[in-house]
Amino acid sequence: MSFFSTRGGAVVTASQAILTGLAPGGGLYVPAMYPQVSRAWISSLSSMPYAERAAAVLSLYLEDYTPQEIADATAMAYTPERFDTPEIAPVRRLDSTTWLLELFHGPTLAFKDMALQLLPHLVCQAARKNGENREISILVATSGDTGKAALEGFRDVPGTSCTVFYPEEGVSDIQKLQMTTTGGSNTRVIAVEGNFDDAQTGVKTLFGSKDFAERMGVAGRVLSSANSINFGRLVPQVVYYFSAYADLCAGGEVMMGDPVNFVVPTGNFGDILAGWYAMNMGLPVKRLICASNRNNVLTDFFNTGLYNTHRLFYKTTSPSMDILVSSNLERLLYEIADRDGDLVRVWMDQLKEKGSYSVGEQRRDELMRTFTAGFANDRETAEEIATLYAHTNCVVDTHTAVATRVLRDYRARTHDLSPAVVVSTASPYKFCADVLSALKGKGAAEGKDAFACAEELEKISGVPVPRQVSALRELPVLHKRRCTKDPEDMARAVLEA
Ligand SMILES: *Cc1c(COP(=O)(O)O)cnc(C)c1O
Repeated sequence: MSFFSTRGGAVVTASQAILTGLAPGGGLYVPAMYPQVSRAWISSLSSMPYAERAAAVLSLYLEDYTPQEIADATAMAYTPERFDTPEIAPVRRLDSTTWLLELFHGPTLAFKDMALQLLPHLVCQAARKNGENREISILVATSGDTGKAALEGFRDVPGTSCTVFYPEEGVSDIQKLQMTTTGGSNTRVIAVEGNFDDAQTGVKTLFGSKDFAERMGVAGRVLSSANSINFGRLVPQVVYYFSAYADLCAGGEVMMGDPVNFVVPTGNFGDILAGWYAMNMGLPVKRLICASNRNNVLTDFFNTGLYNTHRLFYKTTSPSMDILVSSNLERLLYEIADRDGDLVRVWMDQLKEKGSYSVGEQRRDELMRTFTAGFANDRETAEEIATLYAHTNCVVDTHTAVATRVLRDYRARTHDLSPAVVVSTASPYKFCADVLSALKGKGAAEGKDAFACAEELEKISGVPVPRQVSALRELPVLHKRRCTKDPEDMARAVLEA
């Protein structure tokens, strides 16, 4: 299968798309078509371990990888040493019509692991296929979860290095400790004196700089991206939509062929886009419900057709969704533009130049046949954590709670009680202070460090503190580097390492 750029022009193989990440001219790579699967194919997944389910989906897209390469990659990624449950992505029943798809059982306790445990293998295989002998240098700007997941994925992977820039004051205590205690001989973590936008802008500048690419080349290194614009991060996410559906059917909860709603807490639009890919391949999906926090630019987009970034940026209790420019939406735009790369380029130029674009009413109506969008603010999210706990005894993190709240509102509004799967993207222990305050009142976390909050949470939820969190207490801080937000300073930090 070939891959095209959303802005027209490029035609590459799967391995080239994964190796380079971004298409020339700033477009994103999309598959030439959506492979079709049958109901029997979906059913057959339920008897396979997760690694084999992943291989089954990947092999439909990654045609220039051999079946053996794909099987090796998924077997190395989805192992009991790296995930704390043998199902890898278990489905948990909340009530007779609602399930959580738990994607936080990996090494960094957030759903980013589902893709970033696999991506390094796909990148190394792609390098080999394309005769790339230089060291693959992964650069990441993170608002918290992607950084640690990329570090864990690429740690000690031969032929690669991974450098993460995080905003000095923009991540939770647990997230910061997770990153700065990372071992491995090829990892680097650097605090940027600034906010996430400064870190992200700096990294984007480095990706676009010919001079920097040349200096890296002289050092025998080539740049690549682990951000969710890389198709190699998207395709592993398609897997768990099929996996969840196959599990529900095998458990007798849903009849094969019955449509299901998926509710997805959304930031960069990568996770929910994977659900849309699954639907296009033949997964019985009724609606994809896009759940945002107070940074509700996507809610407005789906409701009006206008994508408008002229608005305040809020720091919320679901920081991994604090984003105003959802990069992966471009892949959806490409489809509603009937794969007209020129039209997508016009919209993206408008976004860059005036901060907004409109897709028009007709295209918006087409989207609304599948998508529904809603949002929850911090107060509603906290209420939701408490409500859900009272009704089901289940403690969810702030991001997941945004989604269950949006589902609650959607059902009240539409009376659509179709089976719904809520994608649960992080462990509550990653955001324990906010979760604890939601359950026990505002003062409950005051004066307590993250570890004390985690212990309190364990008493309430009965779920033991994950060892990834408790171990942080003992681990030495290995990364203390800082740099200014000046891209030249960031470049130096990468080159010196
Ligand atoms: C990244 C992230 C999201 C948002 O996912 P997108 O693919 O960016 O839409 C939601 N929840 C958590 C916990 C995350 O880390």
